[in-house]
Amino acid sequence: MSDAILQVKGLKVAYGGIQAVKGIDFEVHQGELVSLIGANGAGKTTTLKAITGMQPVTDGSIIYAGKAVNGKGSYDLVRLGLAMVPEGRGVFTRMTIHENLLMGAYVRNDKKGVEADIERVFGIFPRLKERRDQLAGTMSGGEQQMLAMGRALMCQPKLLLLDEPSMGLSPIMVDKIFEVIADISKQGVTILLVEQNAKRALELARRGYVMDSGALTMTGSADALLHDPRVRAAYLGE
Ligand code: ATP
Repeated sequence: MSDAILQVKGLKVAYGGIQAVKGIDFEVHQGELVSLIGANGAGKTTTLKAITGMQPVTDGSIIYAGKAVNGKGSYDLVRLGLAMVPEGRGVFTRMTIHENLLMGAYVRNDKKGVEADIERVFGIFPRLKERRDQLAGTMSGGEQQMLAMGRALMCQPKLLLLDEPSMGLSPIMVDKIFEVIADISKQGVTILLVEQNAKRALELARRGYVMDSGALTMTGSADALLHDPRVRAAYLGE
């Protein structure tokens, strides 16, 4: 499809002899919020790592904004507007909130624009503004998740990959994070969301993919997946 911002074709990834991703095809269109759900160890994180050049690809192609990006490193991808918020957040614990946000803008040199975007991030996450000069390592898990998302927004991404943003968070914080994901999506950022919280992820998304043992086993509108008896039995605890 012509409006695909990301096309993954025949993607295979292995760790030594273990095939973690076994030849998958999927795409994300401009402006969409797409959820990739699946159990522990299904290969979701590996898929995101392959897209962002953090894990070598055994076979297949990754096309972002019309160009093959296989083998490109994270730095080049961020410059092209493809950002990832990794599982476990990966904030710089010994830097302040403000410094972490500046790190997110390391590919930019428009100082005024960067300052304006910091204010925009503070608008989305007022908690970060209150704690602007606090060391990131002293913040709660939820606050660190907010910071990781804020940092990713600082590179003005066109496509944002989110890996398990709700993991380990309190129910209130999970609500807040999903609310913000919806907001970011409404602001026009295309999102690929990897989640074990299948219900919430599908409620938010337009389309979804189900991953099992390295393969994509189902796809469709998020609503259809939410009501599919197989999805309900395997991933929604029914
Ligand atoms: P989770 O939600 O638990 O992160 P996932 O769907 O993201 O699961 P992956 O982390 O991509 O799954 O793992 C897919 C498979 O690859 C698993 O069998 C896992 O054990 C294996 N794997 C992941 N990382 C490595 C690694 N660095 N070395 C060897 N095997 C790995």
